[in-house]
Amino acid sequence: MDHFIEVLLPIPLARNFTYSIPEEQFGMLRKGMRVAVPFGKSKLYTGLVVELDTDPPTAYEAKEVYQILDEKPLVSALQLRFWKWMASYYMCTLGEVFRTAVPGIFLLESETQVMGDSDWVAEHGTPENPESPESLVLRALEHQKALAISEISSLVERKNALPLVNRMLKAGMIRVQEKLGDGYRPKQVRFLRLHPSFQEEAALEELLRTLSRAPKQTEVLLHLFQLQQGVNKPVKSTELEKQVGTSRSVIKALIDKDILEEYTLTQDRISYSGGEEAQKLAGLNPEQQVALDTIRGFFRESRPVLLYGVTASGKTEVYSHLISEALERGEQVLYLVPEIALTTQLVYRLQQLFTSRVAAFHSRQSQQERAEIWYHLQRAEEKASLILGARSALFLPFKNLGLIIIDEEHENSYKQFDPAPRYHARDAAILMATYWEAPVLLGSATPSVESYHNAKTGKFGLVTIRQRYGGILLPEMELINLADAYRKKQMSGHFSHRLRDAIIETLAQKRQVILFQNRRGFSPIVECMSCGHVPGCPNCDVSLTYHQQRRQLRCHYCGFNRPLETECQACGNTNLDTKGLGTEQVTAELAELFPETRASRMDLDTTRGKHAFSRIIEGFEAQEIQVLVGTQMVTKGLDFGNVGLVGIMNADTLLNYPHFRAHERCFQMLTQVAGRAGRKDYRGKVLIQTYNPYHQILKQVTTGDYEGMYKEQLYEREQFHYPPKVRLIKITLRHRDWNRVEEGAAWFARSLRVVFDKGVLGPEYPPVSRIRNQYHKQILVKIPKGQPLAKTKNSIKRIEKSFDAISNYRSIRLIYNVDYI
Ligand code: ADP
Ligand code: ZN
Repeated sequence: MDHFIEVLLPIPLARNFTYSIPEEQFGMLRKGMRVAVPFGKSKLYTGLVVELDTDPPTAYEAKEVYQILDEKPLVSALQLRFWKWMASYYMCTLGEVFRTAVPGIFLLESETQVMGDSDWVAEHGTPENPESPESLVLRALEHQKALAISEISSLVERKNALPLVNRMLKAGMIRVQEKLGDGYRPKQVRFLRLHPSFQEEAALEELLRTLSRAPKQTEVLLHLFQLQQGVNKPVKSTELEKQVGTSRSVIKALIDKDILEEYTLTQDRISYSGGEEAQKLAGLNPEQQVALDTIRGFFRESRPVLLYGVTASGKTEVYSHLISEALERGEQVLYLVPEIALTTQLVYRLQQLFTSRVAAFHSRQSQQERAEIWYHLQRAEEKASLILGARSALFLPFKNLGLIIIDEEHENSYKQFDPAPRYHARDAAILMATYWEAPVLLGSATPSVESYHNAKTGKFGLVTIRQRYGGILLPEMELINLADAYRKKQMSGHFSHRLRDAIIETLAQKRQVILFQNRRGFSPIVECMSCGHVPGCPNCDVSLTYHQQRRQLRCHYCGFNRPLETECQACGNTNLDTKGLGTEQVTAELAELFPETRASRMDLDTTRGKHAFSRIIEGFEAQEIQVLVGTQMVTKGLDFGNVGLVGIMNADTLLNYPHFRAHERCFQMLTQVAGRAGRKDYRGKVLIQTYNPYHQILKQVTTGDYEGMYKEQLYEREQFHYPPKVRLIKITLRHRDWNRVEEGAAWFARSLRVVFDKGVLGPEYPPVSRIRNQYHKQILVKIPKGQPLAKTKNSIKRIEKSFDAISNYRSIRLIYNVDYI
């Protein structure tokens, strides 16, 4: 008899689907396993079993499951519970959470593109049987760059090619096409050793004698022995090449003569190459020790804790003590960071303490690397028991989670903006921790107003560290009045002479400089001096940004670009001027002012590659780079030892941003970037260039008055009804047709007002109201404390139902952003 099961598909539909499965296979099935199922006319999806033995569907005839893809559940009941919470809280579908939560490689579907792996073929040749499906696929991939799985299906004349594809993936014959096309198969590393025939002492002596006329080859052998450290430690081919400093040809000659032997090993990607010898934890100073003890106390009361410690107060050291305790108890630890740049630096720091137990998890890793970490956690191995990750690490299959750390908790990037689920990793982590009864520690030198409010009202425990480690003073801050400097002609380009001289002085002391400008590109605006025309993006309502290096105008919203024209497209005049300042121009001016200085830029444009971050960060750490110019990327928790000066090119763009959070963010950004200066042995200096030197926020930044900023912001939010005093749901309507968005938004807002009255703002155009040729309009729903959230969401959902029933509106996209920040 057939059984029926309920399957979750990774698509944005608000329901699951029922499939049938024969008796004998049903017995092998568990909830949380993946199955390959047909969907629609000819599509094939990977779905997740969420219910066993349900009733047959009434509205349609159940199709049969093609194949069970797992031997044991990939997703636990607890994960599924977490997903359900997320879908409901953030108003999206379970399928959308599913798609975000598991590495893409677990979700093969008919559209997934796979590619051949030429390395594999080079190594193994083509499979023996030319008629085997593997051979067919590999041959087809010799002629085509990529094949969709559906195409493979027709190629091998099977309706279900997923098992075949999975098998070939596992064997390393093919790869899934990825954006950051990094190798898919377990990484093969080449090693070298002496050919076994020279194991005997006598044979080796004989060899060295015969080689005496080939000094280069002898040298290679000696280097090899040295690297083997007398214990036959495996030596990577690349390592030997580097040691010898010659080309590979000498090594190749030795291999050809059967003196050296090359062999490959599969290297686990998350492996750690250092020794197993862990460094000891740093002893804490009295203030850090008190903080640690207080944190433990709050943990015993099961309260999340906010650690508010000034920059370089040693928060990371305090975390390390807690991590160490959890790992000793055999528990897993999740350490969230807002930015991949941070994982680069922290992984290294934590590996010193916790060796191979540390594993990074983020979106720049290949699918294979992410899948490996998934399995490690599931098996609850000691390896990879401390996960250092960006927000998506939250979805990993923990087995015994014992501690969550959320570093730089104030960072916006913890909130997923697009696509759904638009979750806040900090808030979701706090919820998830309750499942495990695991303690949660939030840390920041500039806590978000929300978290500080939670701490002040007792929902979180509050722990403070006021002193930098080692008694180093917080950097000395100075505001530079740009209007004054221009008037007195004390400017070179965008550098005031005060800033220029401070750079000279800092470099003379052999210290490094960070320059912060929160815009990339050369200059944000190109303007015609005669008619005032500003070239805009044809797809979006924004002006194009000039990128000098490529002599291009680029849209930062959709990526549109075109060469910079020599004359105005409106009036033909050739008098074009650039306005505003981007990181590229700062770097160019710097090169003119300091031609001898080695500078680097860190922004979205320079960090696209997989290893781009690490290269810049390592270069700065090694002091090969003297000046680092960057956007907000440089503000986030980086720990460099030798930065003497931080210069903020222009603080005003941060002040004048139209958002209820603008001042809070400005305070955070400036304080954080300032915090990169003078972290270790001496007091650093910060220079802030601005047209508004008397602005309240800048005063609070320079005097380190977080408390003052908090009080003022809280008061304003109370007055104007913003978080943490109310909750926000932002509803965005999107469509190609301007009129339709107009009408639909008006209808939706009207209906919301019937229920929520004054709690509805808008509809309004966002600052950029057309993106990729789609018009946007927004409505903000404010939910006072005390008004039940679930009921509110239900009301909104009911309005959505009526909205969708109007044929004219049905094609308008509705996007919910719960706890919009
Ligand atoms: P935060 O995370 O608060 O910004 P860090 O933990 O990065 O601060 O500390 C700043 C610097 O001071 C780091 O280089 C760190 O190694 C050092 N440091 C902090 N506390 C100690 C300690 N107890 N012993 C030794 N070094 C410390
Ligand atoms: Zn655009």
